[in-house]
Amino acid sequence: MSEPKINIEHRYLELPDSFYTRVKPRPLEDGKLVCFNAPLAEAMGIRSDQPAEWTGVGSGTELLEGMDPVAMKYTGHQFGVYNPDLGDGRGLLLWETIGPDGRRWDWHLKGAGMTPYSRFGDGRAVLRSTIREYLCSEAMAGLGIPTTRALFMVSAKDPVRRESIETAASLLRVTQSHIRFGHFEFAAHHEGEEALRALLEHVIALHFPELIQLPEPERYRRWYEAVVERTAWLIADWQAVGFCHGVMNSDNMSIIGETFDYGPYAFLDDFDAGYICNHTDQGGRYAYNRQPNIGFINCQYLAKALLPVMDEDDVRRGLRRYETAYNERFQDTMRQKLGLQIQDESDLSLIMDTFSMLHEHRIDYTLFFRGLSNLHSKGSAPIRDLFVDRSVAGDWLGRYQARLEKESLGPEEREAGMRSVNPKFILRNYLAQQVIVEAQSGNFEPMKKLLKVLEKPFDEQPEHEDYAAPPPDWGKHLNISCSS
Ligand code: AMP
Ligand code: MG
Repeated sequence: MSEPKINIEHRYLELPDSFYTRVKPRPLEDGKLVCFNAPLAEAMGIRSDQPAEWTGVGSGTELLEGMDPVAMKYTGHQFGVYNPDLGDGRGLLLWETIGPDGRRWDWHLKGAGMTPYSRFGDGRAVLRSTIREYLCSEAMAGLGIPTTRALFMVSAKDPVRRESIETAASLLRVTQSHIRFGHFEFAAHHEGEEALRALLEHVIALHFPELIQLPEPERYRRWYEAVVERTAWLIADWQAVGFCHGVMNSDNMSIIGETFDYGPYAFLDDFDAGYICNHTDQGGRYAYNRQPNIGFINCQYLAKALLPVMDEDDVRRGLRRYETAYNERFQDTMRQKLGLQIQDESDLSLIMDTFSMLHEHRIDYTLFFRGLSNLHSKGSAPIRDLFVDRSVAGDWLGRYQARLEKESLGPEEREAGMRSVNPKFILRNYLAQQVIVEAQSGNFEPMKKLLKVLEKPFDEQPEHEDYAAPPPDWGKHLNISCSS
């Protein structure tokens, strides 16, 4: 195909050689381009009129001029244990492009075959997990939560052995940066100070340009604080929307603070603070209510990796920012979700008590807040109906209404604001499962339809009411396979 009209770079290759290995994609058999993100392609400045032209790139049979695929080397802490042998085991960074708006995009082909970092893996990604990653990255983008994006995906015939035999697929994942906390752990623990500095300067130059001019100790200090802050904000956003990542290893933590590596994730249906979406996580290390603390622990791993080039006190100061950044962001968002504009000293206890009630009575998290956003316009029945014990709902609503008396905004305006932070549509696991089953028999239309709905999760979309429904019984506690 002809080259897209974009600026092409591959700045990752400026890092020391130890940060990557050149690997050619291993072709997929009879790959078909099954989903293409036209709006994203347009924003990136690439051709979107003939999506099928991208089949070769997605199948690993074609490289465009300028593509120089590499597997990135990183290490990281998995479930609290350091693993020096990580790296892109099945994904390749193809090149970087710069779009018409000046935004930089890493192109990463996930499922491209084995690399020197594959360990015991086969280098492939199955259709099921590729769809899950595609759906969730776009659902997150719709929700306004920082995330990697899905540009297109290919489905192929190659059999892939997981718990059963499935088929292979690939995802062209794009984001401003694929650099993880684990890249820093690799540099610090294996390569030495020079490599660590090179990585740090690379990340600052490309992704934190506002810091370039600062003199050195301050440049690093401010950078680390910014990374800590972005991480804290991201996890506050997850908590507020009810998202459970499932595998918060430090090699899955993006240095620019995006949601990264979608595996056994889940959006909460019925609220359960201790929910564990990853069924191999027996100790619940990555349970929903532990995510904020795990984000902090990951920032500590990063801190440790920075010690060769940063003063210990500076690192400590940066780490301290985590808790305040998290609390500010989480409380602000929860206040918005509840429609509280005026600050009142009782607000924090109202927020905490609301969570306790949702947990104790296992109330659908999304329906509850969306119902609250329509309390004035549609009445309290949609909220009361979520409770088996209606008196609990009644008591809580009484307290909430009394609190609203202190607000000065009118109800219409307040609820319009609430509807812009309380989504009507989230990617419930059962919805993902339904489109996966269809796709496995060759029909990708349901997936595309679901993606369209999730593009505008805050809009009423009355014609898509069924997508806002809580899970049917079969879809309540789906055992989502972690193998991907
Ligand atoms: P994840 O749990 O997906 O974050 O993966 C952890 C590590 O295992 C990363 O280094 C991946 O590249 C690698 N990996 C996961 N699945 C495979 C696979 N099927 N083949 C090769 N490497 C894999
Ligand atoms: Mg990973």
